[in-house]
Amino acid sequence: MQLQELAKEEHAALVLSRAMDRGRLHHDYLICASDIAEAESLVRVFFAACNCEPMNGLECCGECPTCEAILDPEREYPELMLFDATQQKLGIDEVRTIEGRLSHYINQGRARGIIIRGMERLTTEAQNCLLKIVEEPPEATYFFFITTNINGVLLTIRSRCQILRLSPAPLTVAQITAGNTNLEAISELLLKAATKSIEAVMEAAQQIPENRFEASIVLDLLELRLRDILAGRAGLSGSDYICDQDWLNNNGPIFADIPAKRLFSAQNILAKGRRYRDNNINCRLLGESVILSLINQADL
Ligand SMILES: [Zn+2]
Repeated sequence: MQLQELAKEEHAALVLSRAMDRGRLHHDYLICASDIAEAESLVRVFFAACNCEPMNGLECCGECPTCEAILDPEREYPELMLFDATQQKLGIDEVRTIEGRLSHYINQGRARGIIIRGMERLTTEAQNCLLKIVEEPPEATYFFFITTNINGVLLTIRSRCQILRLSPAPLTVAQITAGNTNLEAISELLLKAATKSIEAVMEAAQQIPENRFEASIVLDLLELRLRDILAGRAGLSGSDYICDQDWLNNNGPIFADIPAKRLFSAQNILAKGRRYRDNNINCRLLGESVILSLINQADL
């Protein structure tokens, strides 16, 4: 079984298999998913490939005793620890227990894995304690933090981890901003600049925060707004299609002069940028390019 076979999680699987290919695996992964079980399946295939007996590399055979034990969520594999914060309390004491278990040598296979479901449910103290562990992870030990709400995960943890986003379901504005109305205002300013001038766009882009997590939120909002405008243009309505109908009713007409073709191209730039966003992409420039692509070049 190959990681790439998990076609639904094409991007996340690609990131993992490339890292394996280059022998440059991250130790800490933060996986944002709307479906925890789906995220865990990806982790299990990846971890099986790290340990499979006959295979060594990008694939797991899926049939050896090691693969069978790792791939089956009902079975236990001694070097794969699973903690479910959605079902049990995971406070500082429990994190210390994890730390204690990591002091033992790996008895079986080539790697040890720790999966935490519902990372956002850990208290700040517990997350801080975990941060200390992931900062100096024991050899061949991989952490997989699965979350349905990345805003509930400490920024210090997020910046330490390689972030994998699994085909996210559309979020609401409130979920994206976590109540930070300033970021919402910046994304509005940017979008509206598209109806003004290049100068307005460049000025608005300066407002995108340098902090890349905050900048990412602004970009997520742009994506959501563009998506709503496009869906509105296509005559769609209802919460299955439109994330924020009130906003669209009030603001849709402002963008009426922007042809759909340009909206699609802006969406495309955002989608391409998303792939690199978790690396060190300049979010300010990305935001600027997106809005510039909305401007009518014929007016210049
Ligand atoms: Zn195997």
